[in-house]
Amino acid sequence: MTASAALLNASANASTTHDDRLRASTDRSGYVPSTLPDGVIYAETADDVVNTMKLASAHQVPVVPRGAGTGLAAGAAAKAGEVVLDMSRMTRILHLDPVEQIAVVEPGVLNAAVNAAAAAHGLFYAPDPASTAICSIGGNIATNAGGMLCAKYGVTRESVLALRVVLPDGRMLRTGRETIKGVTGYDLNALMIGSEGTLGVVVEATLRLRPRPIQTATVAVYFPDVAAAARAASAIIAARVQPSVLELMDGPTLEAVDAAQGTNHRARGGAFLLAQTDGYGAALEQDVLIEAIQPFASSYEKAADTEHADALVATRREAIPALERMGRVSICDIGVPRNRLADVFAGLEDICRHTGVRIFNVAHAADGNLHPMIVVDPDESITEGPAKAALAEMFYLAKRLGGTLTGEHGVGLLKRDWLQDELGDISLELQRSIRNVFDPLGILNPGKAI
Ligand SMILES: Cc1cc2nc3c(=O)[nH]c(=O)nc-3n(C[C@H](O)[C@H](O)[C@H](O)COP(=O)(O)OP(=O)(O)OC[C@H]3O[C@@H](n4cnc5c(N)ncnc54)[C@H](O)[C@@H]3O)c2cc1C
Repeated sequence: MTASAALLNASANASTTHDDRLRASTDRSGYVPSTLPDGVIYAETADDVVNTMKLASAHQVPVVPRGAGTGLAAGAAAKAGEVVLDMSRMTRILHLDPVEQIAVVEPGVLNAAVNAAAAAHGLFYAPDPASTAICSIGGNIATNAGGMLCAKYGVTRESVLALRVVLPDGRMLRTGRETIKGVTGYDLNALMIGSEGTLGVVVEATLRLRPRPIQTATVAVYFPDVAAAARAASAIIAARVQPSVLELMDGPTLEAVDAAQGTNHRARGGAFLLAQTDGYGAALEQDVLIEAIQPFASSYEKAADTEHADALVATRREAIPALERMGRVSICDIGVPRNRLADVFAGLEDICRHTGVRIFNVAHAADGNLHPMIVVDPDESITEGPAKAALAEMFYLAKRLGGTLTGEHGVGLLKRDWLQDELGDISLELQRSIRNVFDPLGILNPGKAI
């Protein structure tokens, strides 16, 4: 019997069907694996995870933790010889304290479900990936996910107070604390967040909730082209106004969304900024924001009511699904200093011209985090050929502008080629040593992240 068969046989909720192995072999990155994992274990309790990792250690079986499989870096991809540990059945919200403003949840719960539970108490959970309805809190923690509201409220790391994590050898580790402040010891909580399933399996998270803003003001702004929109976004930052949402979409992306949704954004401009301000000063801040963008904009439209604002937000959330209707999508995730937005869009146009690949752009403009998306034919690869070459060029473009390889999606399997260029030898060596301390046998999500 193989080592993985021994692990799968000993697990109550294991599956080796072709369909389950196929589903668990990749995520939404467009990566197509050449083999399938040996099986899938569906964890229902923290004890299931402890037992799985103890056995995996004993038999030295590589294990790939998996949340909802919406990742965009192939971080949850798995191949022959590996067993997937699927966390999507652990969906309970164990405790929600509206006075202390915390929620204790299992990792498989969807991001949107946490927000729905918080909303009932006038609270919200700030990190809001565009995939909120389909991604899990465990996956958000493992990727340190961002989203639209991160412009004002920070990324996942700013909203996770404590974790329970099963280490590769099956020991249970507690990180962080339930207090807002606390500096005892090294910050293992922060280390765990964004570690892409390579240091431990998250089985419980204590999340920080926040009071829902008393009001939100939304405006949609249209520009002749993406360069003008980028300059307007930089002008908003320079005006020292703090939008809670500042999302940019270029003309080709607007066309794709219009085709998917029956809207007419592209007819109104060659680029679009969705800006929200919130809190007691929402309307005042919106005035400052509109003044800052006036020199660049062709037109703007304030949302008349919540329904209108929600429709505009949905326009942005629909960008990736709209492009997925056109072919295989490879999503880049570069970050640049916010005053270099116009430069990065000019560089992207250049890459588009000389590589011949189709690039569509959305950006969390207030964070300087861009998602240039390459769309290829459904049977074309994103891990070699022109798509891969364009991805490499985008990274080097970001680097030249003082930026980074990934703002929020993680390195996963797809971006490891460029790690050393960004981190340098000393940092990479230290990070590999840290990984080795947690996982000396190298059985947790091998070949990913670092
Ligand atoms: C339409 C669309 C829009 C998106 N928008 C955004 C966005 O705005 N911002 C953003 O940041 N991302 C976005 N994403 C990417 C994706 O949704 C996020 O990366 C999300 O955090 C992944 O969560 P998941 O549950 O799907 O994780 P998976 O894809 O299942 O896994 C992702 C990583 O987490 C690890 N992992 C999962 N669960 C655990 C656990 N319990 N313990 C340890 N490791 C674990 C996996 O091993 C893997 O490395 C988008 C994706 C799509 C498809």
